[in-house]
Amino acid sequence: MIGARPGQRIVLFAFSGIWWVQPFVNQPFTRVQPDSTWSNSTHFGTKYAALLVEGNYQPPANINALPPAGNGVVAVAVVNGSPEFWQTWWFLLLATLAAAGMVAAYFFQRMVLLGSEEKRFREAIETMPAMAFSARSDGHWTFVNRGWVEFTGLNVAQSAGVGWQTAVHPDDLSHLLNKWLRSLASGEPLEHELRIRRVVDGAHHWFLMRSQALRDMHGKILRWYGAATDIEDRKRAEQLQAALAHANRVNTMGELVASISHELAQPLMASTMNAKASLRWLQHEPPDLAKAREGTKKIIEAGTLASEIIDRLRSLYKKAPPKRELVVINEVVVEMTGMLKSEARRHGVSIRIDLKDDLPMTVADRVQLQQVLMNLMLNGIEVMNETGGVLTVKSQSNALGGFEVTINDTGPGLPPGKADQLFEAFFTTKPQGSGMGLSISKSIIEAHGGHIWATNNEGRGATFHFTMPPAVEDQSATK
Ligand code: ADP
Repeated sequence: MIGARPGQRIVLFAFSGIWWVQPFVNQPFTRVQPDSTWSNSTHFGTKYAALLVEGNYQPPANINALPPAGNGVVAVAVVNGSPEFWQTWWFLLLATLAAAGMVAAYFFQRMVLLGSEEKRFREAIETMPAMAFSARSDGHWTFVNRGWVEFTGLNVAQSAGVGWQTAVHPDDLSHLLNKWLRSLASGEPLEHELRIRRVVDGAHHWFLMRSQALRDMHGKILRWYGAATDIEDRKRAEQLQAALAHANRVNTMGELVASISHELAQPLMASTMNAKASLRWLQHEPPDLAKAREGTKKIIEAGTLASEIIDRLRSLYKKAPPKRELVVINEVVVEMTGMLKSEARRHGVSIRIDLKDDLPMTVADRVQLQQVLMNLMLNGIEVMNETGGVLTVKSQSNALGGFEVTINDTGPGLPPGKADQLFEAFFTTKPQGSGMGLSISKSIIEAHGGHIWATNNEGRGATFHFTMPPAVEDQSATK
C-alpha cells in the first residue's frame, strides 16, 4: 500500500516491449485524478508520474522492486508486463487500416451524394421554365440549358463562345454587349431586357436576362451564371399601358378642349351681343353714343376675361402655379352678375344679389373664382331657360371664419337620383353639355381649400354652395 498526499508523485518504471505501456491502465491506481498531467522522461526506460489526490493506492501486483523514494516521490515501482492486445503492432496496423477504410468510405459516400445532388441540380436547370447559361470569367459561354436550346434552336456547341449572340435581336445586341462587357470588367451583375429569336416561327420574344458572377473565397470571378426569363406578357402589358396612356392624353386634350370651349363660350357670346347692340346704337339716327360706349366697354370686359381665361388655361397646361392674390368675393360677384345680366335677361331670368358686407378676404386666383361663379350662374340661367325665374347670388360669413356663396335658382331642381354625380367630369344631362363645368369648379374650389356642394330647395329649384377659407396671413388687410 502506498500513501500519497496531493502534490506528491508516484513514479513507476515500465519494462515492456512497447514503450507506452502505462501500468495505471490495468492496475488499481483508481484515485488518479482524471485531469492529472503526465510527465514523461526517458532517462531510464520510460517514467510516468501523476499528481495524486490524497488517499491510499494499491500498487500493481507484478511490481517486483520498490526503489527508494525521495524528492517528493512517494514510491517508485518497477513494473514488468507484457503488452495488452491493443498495444501490439498488429492491432495498431488493423486499427489504422480500419480507420483509413472508414475515411475512404465516408469520402466515397460524399462523392456519391454530391454526384446525385449535381445530377438533381442539372436536371432542375435543364427542366426549369427559363433559359439558363454559364460562361467563363472572360464571358465565353460554355453551357446552355434545354430551355435555351429548344427556344433558340442553338445547341450547346452552337451557343458556345459568342455563338449565342446570333439568337439576339440585332437592335438589342450592341446595347446588351456593352452592358455584358461592363459587367465582365466590374463583376457587377448583369440585368438587361432584350429580344431573343424563337426558332419555330422566327418571332422575337422579350426576355429579361440576368447574370451573376460566382467568386472564389478571395473574390476572384470563377464563372458567370445567367438566366433569361420570358417577359413577353409583361412587355405586352406595358405596351398596352402606353397605348392607354396615350389614349388618356388624347382624352385629357379632349377635356381641355371641352373646358376651353365651355369657359370661352360666355365671354365670346357676350362680346358678340354687345357688339351687335353697339352697332345698333350707332346706326340710330342720331347715334346713341352713350349706349354704344357702354356696349363697347362690355366688349372690352368680355375680351379681357376671355384672354385671362386663355392665359389661365395656358398656365394650367404649363403646370404653372395658379395666381394667389387677395380677393374680395363681393367684387367678383358684382363683376359676374354684371357680365351675365344680359344673358339672363335673354332667358327671362332676373338676377338678384344679396351680399353681406365686411366679409373676410380670401387668397385666391381671381380668374378661377370668376370661372366658378360663371359656371354656377350659367347653369342656373340655363335650367330656367324655358320657364324664366330668379337667380339669387348670396354671400355670407360661415362658421369657419371664411365665407359661403350660394347660387339659388327656381328651376326644376337637381336631376333625381343623380345629385352625387353632378361634380364628376363628363356628367351631364344636357344634349349639348360637356359635363365639365361643375367638375372644373370643384377642382378649383378644393385647390383653394374650400368646399362645393349642391342642395335642392325646399320649394322650387336648386342651390349651389361653395365656401372659401379666410386669408389668414392678411387678416389685417380685411379690416
Ligand atoms: P354641363 O352643364 O355641361 O352639363 P356641368 O358640370 O355644368 O355640365 O353640370 C352637370 C350637370 O349638373 C348638368 O348637366 C345638370 O344635370 C346638373 N346641374 C348643374 N346645375 C344645375 C342646376 N342649377 N339645377 C339643376 N341641375 C343642375
